[in-house]
Amino acid sequence: MTSTLTISHLTKTYDGVNALSDVSLSVEPGERVALLGHNGAGKSTLMKVILGLIQPNGGEVTVCGAKPGQAAARAKVAYLPENATFHSAVTGLEQITYYMRLRNLDASGAMELLDRVGLSAAAKRRIGTYSKGMRQRVGLAQALIGHPSLLVLDEPTSGLDPVSRRDFYELLDGLAAEGAAILLSSHALTEVEARTDRLLILSGGRMVAEGTLSDLRREAALPVSMHITALNGYSADIMDALPNAIRVGDALHISCNQDDKLATLAEISALRGKVADLEVIPPSLEDIYSHFSRRDGQ
Ligand code: ATP
Repeated sequence: MTSTLTISHLTKTYDGVNALSDVSLSVEPGERVALLGHNGAGKSTLMKVILGLIQPNGGEVTVCGAKPGQAAARAKVAYLPENATFHSAVTGLEQITYYMRLRNLDASGAMELLDRVGLSAAAKRRIGTYSKGMRQRVGLAQALIGHPSLLVLDEPTSGLDPVSRRDFYELLDGLAAEGAAILLSSHALTEVEARTDRLLILSGGRMVAEGTLSDLRREAALPVSMHITALNGYSADIMDALPNAIRVGDALHISCNQDDKLATLAEISALRGKVADLEVIPPSLEDIYSHFSRRDGQ
């Protein structure tokens, strides 16, 4: 299968600032990939290079086999900015019709596109009356003009309520199922974990991690916490049996490496008559993300 997007050893410098250093990645048809990174990590710069808006200093990028910015690449890539804005006096239908005409396409398909993003009932209303979620949908309908093979979405769900977010991801799922490759940036970790196939983490312009959440969890190998509630009067006995445990309020906390998890659980079960409850807490998504994005002293 030919990758929709390939990036190899990409470097971009602004006045001596390394915005991207030696970044390589690929996105396959039908794949939904999340691009994560703190402010200034290089996400927007990477998107601008893919769209052909800025030239890299080094490396290779291809979009459907063409160089970014070339007509063949521009015809295949679509972009949705974080806050899609439109003239408030124009209707959704007029907006999409106008952009289809600019692309020399038959604008009779405008209503079908608006229907696709769930806006057919509001198509003839002024965009000024739309909610933020509806405006993002107009942006998505606009991005879908010409059946793009690659969708580049910059924080597409920021500011949307949970139901609008879910609806938006359902739309993306449908597009991916039809073969579109999707690269989206986000700060909403839980959401991208559930709704994308792979995560990429940029930090200080470098790609510091790539994979599914379980790949990253395994690679980070962060400690597991266990919270033990002692039966009345037995907390001192438990502390004696588990010298690494610390007291936090009424509970006892113990932390161990992934590899020692089963052995620690066995030690706790040996204290069965003294333990009222046990909670095993794996590293959170935020812990994993912070682990990678702080690596290299960033
Ligand atoms: P955010 O989440 O805040 O949008 P980002 O991950 O998109 O951040 P970029 O905007 O790509 O990050 O910026 C990467 C680095 O490049 C930052 O250090 C930024 O200050 C710098 N940078 C970006 N654009 C320019 C520019 N036009 N001139 C000089 N430096 C720039």
